[in-house]
Amino acid sequence: MIKIAIHGGAGTIEPHMLTPEKESLYKMGLQNALDRGYEILAGGGTSLDAITTSIQMLEDNPLFNAGKGAVYNYKGGHDMDASIMEGKSLMAGAVSGITRVKNPITLAKTIMQKSEHVYLSGIEAEVFAKLHDIALENTDYFDDAFRRQQWETAQKEGGVFLDHMDEKKFGTVGAVALDQFGNIAAGTSTGGMTNKRYGRIGDTPIIGAGTYANNKTCAISCTGHGEYFIRAVVAYDISCLMEYKGFTLKQACDEVVMNKLVQMGGEGGLIALDAKGNIELSFNSSGMYRGVREENGNNFTAIYREI
Ligand code: ASP
Repeated sequence: MIKIAIHGGAGTIEPHMLTPEKESLYKMGLQNALDRGYEILAGGGTSLDAITTSIQMLEDNPLFNAGKGAVYNYKGGHDMDASIMEGKSLMAGAVSGITRVKNPITLAKTIMQKSEHVYLSGIEAEVFAKLHDIALENTDYFDDAFRRQQWETAQKEGGVFLDHMDEKKFGTVGAVALDQFGNIAAGTSTGGMTNKRYGRIGDTPIIGAGTYANNKTCAISCTGHGEYFIRAVVAYDISCLMEYKGFTLKQACDEVVMNKLVQMGGEGGLIALDAKGNIELSFNSSGMYRGVREENGNNFTAIYREI
């Protein structure tokens, strides 16, 4: 049984906000990322490789707030964060505050596989990236006219905004998958918040907050207002409810996303999958860019609260 689910961010995303052209571009970006990840699983590849490939494709797509298309920070640059975790081994890799790595998820995976650490940051993480031949770009590679316009508005108004301030959309990307060996994995990548400063880091690179995977319970990738997701330890909390309280995946996601986070005021969502093959796409916002492809033929992308 093989399965993959992806997201491209959650938030206030309603039909009147996207032109039909923009909507189909988002859906095409999601479907392509989903299909490439699925092909890896279908070819006998691992869940870890499948999610890495899907996330790389979303990072390369300027529509999403990760890699190319990452939002601008206060100083007019881009600081990116990513993390990855393997459910079989409980190995994890994470990185934050990098400015030149083309695909932050690739660096997170390499940290997991080739360093004795879990979490690297900043310039020194880029030294590690160079050492392992991970592609770096000049910082202007990450520039994008639409993101710049968002940033200029944020600068004028003096605020810190999550991706699209007008739409309150969180454009982080992520994937979870189950491979033919019965192993699950999760990964997440982001540019964080528009106009963020002082080295702000959200939930995305924090294992247990934005990303978690354990074959015994579930694989989770989050998107939303990171400060709340950190305080609610969202991804690990769902795993704990399953492990220690015997909740099903759905019960655990409902409890954390629709109850705990809502009570705290934390907007966003997540994709989740367990080793039995259950999938949950859970969000308390009006929309979440998302998609699922399974061996049984189920294959869809969606944006609004419709399914
Ligand atoms: N969770 C991310 C952060 O707070 C934002 C997002 O999901 O778009 O950095």
